[in-house]
Amino acid sequence: MSPPIWSALSFNFQRIKVKFGFNLKQLTTLYDNHGRPINYVRLAVTDRCNLRCFYCMPEEGIRYLPKKHLLTFEEIERLITILATMGITKVRLTGGEPFVRNDLMKLINGISEIPGIQDLHLTTNGVLTAPHVPELKKLGIASVNLSLDTLDKSRFYAITRRDEFEPVMNTLHSLLEHNIPVKINAVVMEGKNIGDIIPLIELSKEHAVDIRFIEEMPFNGEGNHYPTLNWTYKKILEYIQGHYSLVKISDAPSSTSYNYKVEGYKGNVGVIAAFSRTFCGTCNRIRITAQGTLKTCLYDDGALDLRQLLRNGADDQEIKTILTKAFRSRAKDGFEAEARRQNHSPVSESMSTIGG
Ligand code: SAM
Repeated sequence: MSPPIWSALSFNFQRIKVKFGFNLKQLTTLYDNHGRPINYVRLAVTDRCNLRCFYCMPEEGIRYLPKKHLLTFEEIERLITILATMGITKVRLTGGEPFVRNDLMKLINGISEIPGIQDLHLTTNGVLTAPHVPELKKLGIASVNLSLDTLDKSRFYAITRRDEFEPVMNTLHSLLEHNIPVKINAVVMEGKNIGDIIPLIELSKEHAVDIRFIEEMPFNGEGNHYPTLNWTYKKILEYIQGHYSLVKISDAPSSTSYNYKVEGYKGNVGVIAAFSRTFCGTCNRIRITAQGTLKTCLYDDGALDLRQLLRNGADDQEIKTILTKAFRSRAKDGFEAEARRQNHSPVSESMSTIGG
């Protein structure tokens, strides 16, 4: 059944408002101290998750933030409104698992109306996502990144320590049915899911879904990591090239993935050097954790306590000034950011506190 005409009209009106707002409100693009434009924010709406992926967090003993430490929806919308006037045009909501936060769709709706925000994206594990897909489509979500490390139900359980494979696959199918651009993110893990690399790529044969393989990083909440990473992006790529003749396709300006195509397949294949950190030179993103800490690099230990600023009554102009200063003090890459951490110890926090 086609949607009623009023719903199509209101959707278009909203898009026009966004475009109009962009022209009116966006002052200029902000550049960091290394000449990189900053136009993308990734915001974790919660640190809670309904999976326990072993590479992300321990199975037991996780200490979640008390609710009052999370940014409220009002605080998030205010921050994004301020960031939009500073040149941020792209927002990604992440977590923890974003759909674990009550009323997430209300927040998505609110952000989709903020003038200047042109692209709203979501990163999800897909466990609770399927019922919301029609509304995400209606709100004009730009794309969804679905984290899925295996297509095998028992390996899914071994990796995530939860029996949730079916709902995740339902989400994947629903996203595809609704023609929402989907990227599958799979962390490549020694001895765990190497046998899944080819089956995941085969998904892109019949479906227009991009499959991206990510180097495993030490953000596992425990701090233990391989002394050297075996499955580097180079090795992942060589492994794939042992099975397919890949065609290089162009990478978007601030892409974190090296992108390829298997000839004749509908989707693309990407490799993300997240641990080797080869893409920092074009990094256009900042992060805000669930408790409102600004990170100007995934590997830093926090550049600014935004929650404190917001709750201490700072006005928009003050916040902008302090944000600008933080953007102009960025580490040049993830290695420098890690070296600058206050305790000088390598990263070990759970990715669920950051959002990926
Ligand atoms: N819960 C959502 C999800 O699963 O997509 C969003 C948060 S999750 C922390 C974001 C991404 O970080 C996921 O794709 C996950 O696989 C990735 N991730 C978590 N820990 C990682 C690690 N140690 N190394 C590489 N990627 C990791």
